[in-house]
Amino acid sequence: MRFDIVTIFPGFFESVFAQGIVRRAQTEGLIEIRLHDLRDFTHDRHRTVDDRPFGGGEGMVLKPEPLAEALESLGIGVKEGSKGAREQGSEKAGTEGPGTRDVGTRVILLSAQGRVFTQAVARELAALERVVLVCGRYEGVDERINDLYCDMELSIGDYVLSGGEPAAAVVVDATMRLIPGVLGNEASGVYESFGAPDDEIAAEIDVDVEGVPRSQHGAGGLLDYPHYTRPAEFGGLETPKVLMNGDHAQIRRWRREQQLKKTLENRPDLLERAALSAEDRRTLEALQEQGLGTRD
Ligand code: SAH
Repeated sequence: MRFDIVTIFPGFFESVFAQGIVRRAQTEGLIEIRLHDLRDFTHDRHRTVDDRPFGGGEGMVLKPEPLAEALESLGIGVKEGSKGAREQGSEKAGTEGPGTRDVGTRVILLSAQGRVFTQAVARELAALERVVLVCGRYEGVDERINDLYCDMELSIGDYVLSGGEPAAAVVVDATMRLIPGVLGNEASGVYESFGAPDDEIAAEIDVDVEGVPRSQHGAGGLLDYPHYTRPAEFGGLETPKVLMNGDHAQIRRWRREQQLKKTLENRPDLLERAALSAEDRRTLEALQEQGLGTRD
């Protein structure tokens, strides 16, 4: 899978993508990340990428011409059905030649006004061949770039960053680790927080999980359970006994209960969409009776 990132700060990504799994995924040829310096698509002495906003107000806006040129240089044309495509005629909006949009390609504008990036969106992107990420800066990007070229706007959360670069790094990281072969253990990406519901897991996963059997025990849209490693006692706190006794059924039950507990405490909103069994519901009721999940 290929990621193209259009940015005024390509240097931002150097260390971000040079470590850990994302680095290994590149060296193993599972993903390719190409950085494109927006200033390379300017033609004035000052390599200007921004301009003042029409209508007045604070700050500067990334001007459309360098962004359009950068995207066209990547073979990304004006998208079909956009008003601009219709006005520019069918050769720009068309289905062949440079500027054509491949089915497996998605052009994404990082934006605080976007649809929220979730694990479900990451799964959607991981199935593509190519994702093009456009990083905004200043007050944002001239809206016509969104209208003409972008398939979706993505926000990584309800806060405002100073640029799209950290958001692009988040999208690449969460997406690439779902590509088959990137994580050592195929199953681990599915069994984590926000994992696919159990029935999806059953369909997707056919590998053995080492150690404790978790194969019928997906996260089901819940948060992950707490993890412990050696030493058995640390800072005066002991590892829960149940994890030490080797009883896999008991461990599974305990982990599921912990998932429900964490989710109830930290993200009760997730419970509405989670795949819950009758036993899960009983556990939740018991936890609520103990006063859990009442905190804001
Ligand atoms: N004026 C905008 C903020 C611009 S911040 C507003 O009020 O919404 C500058 C750039 O940072 C944006 O163009 C976008 O690319 C990026 N950015 C800021 N917050 C983001 C978020 N939550 N998710 C993704 N990108 C974000």
